[in-house]
Amino acid sequence: MGPALSSDGRPEPSASPLIDPFGRAIDYVRVSVTDRCDLRCTYCMAERQTFLPRAELLTIEELGRLCATFIDLGTTRLRLTGGEPLIRKGFMDLVADLSRHLDSGRLHELTLTTNGTQLARYAQALAGYGVRRINVSIDTLDPDDYRRITRGGNLTEVMAGIDAAQAAGIRVKINTVALKADNAEALAGMIAWAHERDMELTLIETMPLGLIEADRTDQYLPLTTVRAGLERDWTLTPLPLKTGGPARYVRVEQTGGVLGFITPMTHNFCESCNRVRVTCTGTLFVCLGQDDHADLRAVLRDNPGDDAPLQAAIREAISRKPKGHDFEIGRRGAAPAVSRPMSMTGG
Ligand code: SAM
Ligand code: SF4
Repeated sequence: MGPALSSDGRPEPSASPLIDPFGRAIDYVRVSVTDRCDLRCTYCMAERQTFLPRAELLTIEELGRLCATFIDLGTTRLRLTGGEPLIRKGFMDLVADLSRHLDSGRLHELTLTTNGTQLARYAQALAGYGVRRINVSIDTLDPDDYRRITRGGNLTEVMAGIDAAQAAGIRVKINTVALKADNAEALAGMIAWAHERDMELTLIETMPLGLIEADRTDQYLPLTTVRAGLERDWTLTPLPLKTGGPARYVRVEQTGGVLGFITPMTHNFCESCNRVRVTCTGTLFVCLGQDDHADLRAVLRDNPGDDAPLQAAIREAISRKPKGHDFEIGRRGAAPAVSRPMSMTGG
């Protein structure tokens, strides 16, 4: 007999699904596969970023086992991120491993967030493994500004990656961090460019995560300000897209495209939160904005061949998922609300 099927004809999870204390079903997991990156975006990393010793990272096999356990507990959507996922050695083996769960129907979607520098090389294979959507992060279309913001990145490579992904049939969504000094004037042009290429674009407010040298209040640009600026030229019609995530979407009537706003600082999106995050060291964070966590790596390594303790540790952590978070960009120079950088937790 095959697995039990739900009302939409898909296989049911093998264990009872994860429900948090506020009744939210947790079916979306973001997994960071590395803290390393080939870029050093100014708002994300220090120029001389120190990375974790390799032994601290989950191996590719451990990442596969961890993801499989979440899928057993009802995870239907998985996003792989980093650092830069495509520079993790063995990353495509992980994607190949996870594609089995797409084939079985228990995993509905496997996506990644990437800076796109390696995408030209991997797009075709990713599509072959069932990746249908990818988020690519770019904050400017100007090659010189791109090199400066990313401290050395080559925009031509990223554009080739986007071309390759689209040619392979992968839908590309652009993520753009709104930066007061670096791209405030360029955002409308970026949105028009993305929509011309049939890509959604999501604007992200800078978040106070991790200690980096620049004073981040210098770059903080509230999306309410950006939106008001865009509305001087464009009609933005709110869309009822509910993703369970922090993004709110509008249609830009003049371009026909979709624009998202991720505004963790100015909006509270926690009521519909359906997600948790796992760092590259196997630490489970049940809320992006809070430090409460569970060490899944120890449980994985202490119990080879037995996933029951891992399931129990995940359930226990979910039972502590808070109702909401508490970000605040403080006075100039104030410490970030959460000390781990985005490159650890994954965006
Ligand atoms: N390297 C990949 C990339 O850049 O897409 C994946 C990891 S990156 C940490 C994921 C997303 O987080 C990117 O879109 C990036 O722009 C965003 N990000 C990084 N640091 C951030 C911060 N302090 N505030 C807001 N977004 C941030
Ligand atoms: Fe790397 Fe992504 Fe962070 Fe930029 S935002 S430094 S590409 S991890």
